[in-house]
Amino acid sequence: MRVLVVEDEQAMAESLAWGLQADGYVVEVADNGEDGLWKAQENVYDVIVLDVMLPRLDGYQVCRRLREKGRWTPILMLTAMDEDLDHAEGLDSGADDYLAKPFSYPVLLAHLRSLTRRGLGTRPAVLTAAGLTLDPATRTVTNDGVPLDLTSREISVLEFLMRRKGRVVSKTDLLDHCWDTAFTGGPAVVEVHIHRLRRKIETAATPVIVTLRGRGYLIPDEPT
Ligand code: CA
Repeated sequence: MRVLVVEDEQAMAESLAWGLQADGYVVEVADNGEDGLWKAQENVYDVIVLDVMLPRLDGYQVCRRLREKGRWTPILMLTAMDEDLDHAEGLDSGADDYLAKPFSYPVLLAHLRSLTRRGLGTRPAVLTAAGLTLDPATRTVTNDGVPLDLTSREISVLEFLMRRKGRVVSKTDLLDHCWDTAFTGGPAVVEVHIHRLRRKIETAATPVIVTLRGRGYLIPDEPT
């Protein structure tokens, strides 16, 4: 197994490389995002361990650019904070898994084993609901195969709802996950976006997003 470790903290990078080599991995290290991105494109790895906070390009950007270029090497993101927001952003950018620092080495190994077992370089699963298909990697949405012209925010909102299919999502949840923390507007902006989104994805006969007054929104689970 060949692993690329992209980590700027030297002590962390060295101990990871040392441990992984002892466990039989072939390890290469990059100490900044640009170098990591370059190595990941030039070489073939079975898995990439990618720190989020990196000089030059952060982990999210590295991940997103790799996915945009059609590189599906499994990526384990190392996040500094164990917060939902980071996880959402990590998954949005196309990461396969994440691990919050500080972590124990055996847990890291377990994550790497699980990632490499799942199949190498496979394209991440697309999300589907009511004839809609959303590809989180390319951030494109089609309706019965026809591409839809959605804004980036509309795609984020739709993806958030699709990932929670069958569950009620409150306007606050949407604000927290689809708008950045600098946004100071209220829930009305969510209503506006849901309204526009509906006009683009729904025909009169097939509502996709259900409004639950006072609770939020729901994309119903489909019987399988
Ligand atoms: Ca770092």
